[in-house]
Amino acid sequence: MKNIYGIKRTDLEKYFLDINEKKFKALQVFEWLYEKKVTSFFEMTNIKKELQERLAGDFSFRMISIQKKQEDKGTKKYLFKLFDGNFVEAVLMEHDYGLSVCVSSEVGCNMGCAFCESGRLKKVRNLEAFEMVEQILLIEENIKKRISSVVIMGIGEPLDNYDNVMDFIRIINDAKGIAIGARHITLSTCGIVPKIKELMNEDLQINLAISLHAPNTQLRDKIMPINKAYKLPILIDTIKEYIEKTNRRVTIEYVMLSGVNDNETQAAELASLLKGLNVYVNLIPYNETNHLEFKRTSKDQIMKFYDSLKKRGINVTIRREFGSKIDAACGQLRSKEVKE
Ligand code: SAH
Repeated sequence: MKNIYGIKRTDLEKYFLDINEKKFKALQVFEWLYEKKVTSFFEMTNIKKELQERLAGDFSFRMISIQKKQEDKGTKKYLFKLFDGNFVEAVLMEHDYGLSVCVSSEVGCNMGCAFCESGRLKKVRNLEAFEMVEQILLIEENIKKRISSVVIMGIGEPLDNYDNVMDFIRIINDAKGIAIGARHITLSTCGIVPKIKELMNEDLQINLAISLHAPNTQLRDKIMPINKAYKLPILIDTIKEYIEKTNRRVTIEYVMLSGVNDNETQAAELASLLKGLNVYVNLIPYNETNHLEFKRTSKDQIMKFYDSLKKRGINVTIRREFGSKIDAACGQLRSKEVKE
């Protein structure tokens, strides 16, 4: 049985037409789900009893739950338990412009980036669209406030779970769904080239972030296995194509790893790699984890790297740090829970 929170409005319209009902019923159901926030079809009073019963037989409701919550100023981290006993996490961050949530897209991850905690535990399965939607619904319910932006940067590689992630985006983006504007949704990928090409044809105004993390293909090979499949020059060409096709600026994520990718030569190399592209670089202070030997770059060195890019005409920012005290590095909470 499908979970109702994983159904796009267009698919629900098809469902109603198939059972000889009017398609506007889909709109009514969406209003109950996402505006009035009922958790049973039997509370949908403008839908006749017979149809309520039919819906209850065809679709299930909530199936994930909050297992644990940790707080640090401005940040809350949630560990969710899935119906099959698996765990994923999401992080809520308070910005001056509103609340954003970082959601997970898979249970574990197969990309195997050397510095990443999520990838230490291999992928168990994809998340279904409803399991991503419910991360947001449960957080909104927990804090009694609306979320204004979503980043798909938690556990997992979203483009390795493409169809479910696209459904998720369309449901939260639906004006009658959670109504998060496309420009407030960011998808982060390690660079699965064919899927980036697919994404550029979706006609979605979302933000794309690319986890680059290295200024040349030799180094990227060492820290990100995906680079063996899709080499850096090909990735850069694809980013170019994406920008031309969508007219959207792309974010380049660059996690600062001490002694690995953070020296002056590498800054210069990164600048020349990105020269002329409509991108901005987000330098990410590394969250150290107990299991991996990578160390974070010092604040001073991050500033030098930043200045070096800036003076070469690259748009660059340094990511504000959230919740390093509460294991906010992707996958840390889950990896503890799985060990326990
Ligand atoms: N798989 C996707 C999205 C999840 S990872 C991707 O690769 O983009 C989200 C971002 O966090 C990526 O840029 C990832 O490289 C980075 N990251 C992973 N571990 C980190 C850590 N310990 N500290 C800081 N950033 C980390």
